[in-house]
Amino acid sequence: MSNNPSTGSARGRGQLFVVSAPSGTGKTTVVERLVQTVSDLVLSRSYTSRQTREGESNGVDYNFVTRSRFEEMIAAEEFLEWADVFGNLYGTCASDTERDLAQGQDVVLVIDVQGARQVRQRYRDTVGIFVMPPSFDVLEQRLRGRSKDAEDAMQRRLRTARNEVAAFSEYDYVIVNDELEACVDRLRAIVLAERARLKSVQAEAERIVDSFNERAPQ
Ligand code: 5GP
Repeated sequence: MSNNPSTGSARGRGQLFVVSAPSGTGKTTVVERLVQTVSDLVLSRSYTSRQTREGESNGVDYNFVTRSRFEEMIAAEEFLEWADVFGNLYGTCASDTERDLAQGQDVVLVIDVQGARQVRQRYRDTVGIFVMPPSFDVLEQRLRGRSKDAEDAMQRRLRTARNEVAAFSEYDYVIVNDELEACVDRLRAIVLAERARLKSVQAEAERIVDSFNERAPQ
């Protein structure tokens, strides 16, 4: 087995990473870039009751389900966490996450602040990363640039963003997304550093020590 820090599978059970950021921070792009360049790291695909947007497809961006199907899943306790965000329901499937972690994959959830709180209660051993926009003005510009939202929806997003940025101190790491590549680099550094923690490498390090005990001269 390798001790390559970019490889997760040598460590047994995977690590759960939770990334939150206000809408418009660019978190989806950043995390997609991250999982393309780090092995054994998978991006969780959430369920949502919201309508598909142009360019999105079912089973790729989200698992799109009806609101009533989503509610059935809540009742059947199929979600690790779920939340109502801007009037739509979003949730992480508990069995998908558990399967990936059990297979030694590290998993990234890109979820809102409410969802992150639920995950932390369920998995103590979660690494939380908060991605912040550089300023209110930059976030507003980005949102207005990309969005076809009506003004009241825009106001709601900005209000929600204000509440979300205030929650940054609930997370283990905070990254300011001032520049895409720099932001991806910092995220990658966090994942790799977490993989080098004693608890993550203990089993492999013990095997190495055993090999010394078997082979090295007394
Ligand atoms: P959007 O509709 O723009 O794709 O996402 C809106 C918000 O929902 C984002 O803040 C996103 O992080 C959050 N979100 C996406 N999936 C989940 C999920 O599974 N759980 C929770 N709690 N939030 C989610």
